[in-house]
Formats: sequence, structure tokens, C-alpha cells
Amino acid sequence: MPDFDVVPLDSPVTDERYVVACWKCDEDFDAAVAAWCTCDAKLRTLVCPHCALCFCQAPFSYKRKFWTDAPKSLREHTRRFCIPTQDGVASHAEETRESRSSSEDRPHVLIVDDEEPIRSLAACYVEKIGYKVTTVSTPEEALVMTDAGSFDVVLTDALMPKMDGRELCRRLKEEHGDQIKVVLMTSLYTARHFRIEAQHVFKVDEYLAKPLRYGELRDALHRVAPLSRERSPIAK
Ligand SMILES: [Zn+2]
Ligand SMILES: [Zn+2]
Repeated sequence: MPDFDVVPLDSPVTDERYVVACWKCDEDFDAAVAAWCTCDAKLRTLVCPHCALCFCQAPFSYKRKFWTDAPKSLREHTRRFCIPTQDGVASHAEETRESRSSSEDRPHVLIVDDEEPIRSLAACYVEKIGYKVTTVSTPEEALVMTDAGSFDVVLTDALMPKMDGRELCRRLKEEHGDQIKVVLMTSLYTARHFRIEAQHVFKVDEYLAKPLRYGELRDALHRVAPLSRERSPIAK
């Protein structure tokens, strides 16, 4: 049984190198320049140049380690998620460069989700729509971040260990009032009475059903924090 350790190289010059051992053949390769697989899966992975296998079928522990250590550019790469554009084709051309240069005047969205793939997918979507994005994995971190920095929107999962997204919302509203808008993502609390409770008791601004849909997320964000001008090549 090979050791599934993922070993990032020390490379201060660029963060674009990410050297890992293949789960199948155990050869090292630079995942940052590896090809994305074309598996018909929700989440795609990268192809080892030595054995030509992607790691979609790798054990969960390998995938978790790989994505936890992966650079943001890889973790949130649109190829990983297959984001639909207007013509229904996944788009991944002009994502970050243009938006990064004008990041200062864009509304800032804090994404809170304990599940890495959902956090990365949401970050990828939100950045593509044209917002500035920061991600954290727990509501506790979110409270610290929102106290320290200026965020316009908190996009949070409803169900997380320790504190759920609705409680996070209540505390955010208590401290920041309507300065911070809260968008709740949920796969569980989709019934009408949950929605009403979230909006009236916990003061949630928008309510999104999981699995996330790009168009619904975009519309919700546009409602709570409109972009000053249209930037995204695919947001309409
Ligand atoms: Zn391999
Ligand atoms: Zn694959």
C-alpha cells in the first residue's frame, strides 16, 4: 500500500508548482501543470502524466489531502467544477487576472462551509460572478474575520458542527446589523416553514437550496450586494 502523502515543494518564487505523488503509480508530478481529466463527474481531478490516470477513483483520504494542500488557483479552478455558461459549455478562460486588478471596489463575500468541495465550488462561482472572495471552514472563524475585516456578504452553509449557519446569521446581525448580508445555503431546511423561520427569526437575507445553482447564486448576490458595474464575462 503506497503512502498517500502529498508533498508540496518549497518554491518561494511561484505558488504555481504543486508536486504530489500519484496515488496509482506513486511517481511524483506537478499537479499545477497537469491536465484535468474529462470524467463525467461533478468534481474532476488531474491526470498523472506517468500512468495517465486521474485520481477520481483514489481513496477519499488521498483526495482530501490533495485538495487541502492544493493552491487556491487549483482548488478553485473552474475545470474542476464544470461551470455552465450561457451556451452551456464550461468556461475557464478569463477568470482571475482581470478581476484581481479591480478587486478593491468589488463587494467582498465571505464563504463559510465545512466541506472543502462546496467551499471551493462556491468560491469559484462567486469570483467568476465578479465578487471578491475569502473562504473559511467554520462559523467561529467567520465571526473573527467579520470583526476584523469589512465584508459585504456572508455566504454560509446552514448545517455545520458546533454552530449552524442560522445561528451564525443571528450573531452577525446582532453585531453588524444590516451592514452584512447573509445568504444561507441549505440542502436540508428547504421546506417553506424553515425558509420563513430563517428569514424572520434569524434574519437571513437570502436562502439558497443545495446543490448550488450558478444562476440562483448570482441572482441572490446581485440582490443583496449589486456590482457597481458589469465585470464578469458570463454574468448577465
Ligand atoms: Zn501515476
Ligand atoms: Zn477523473
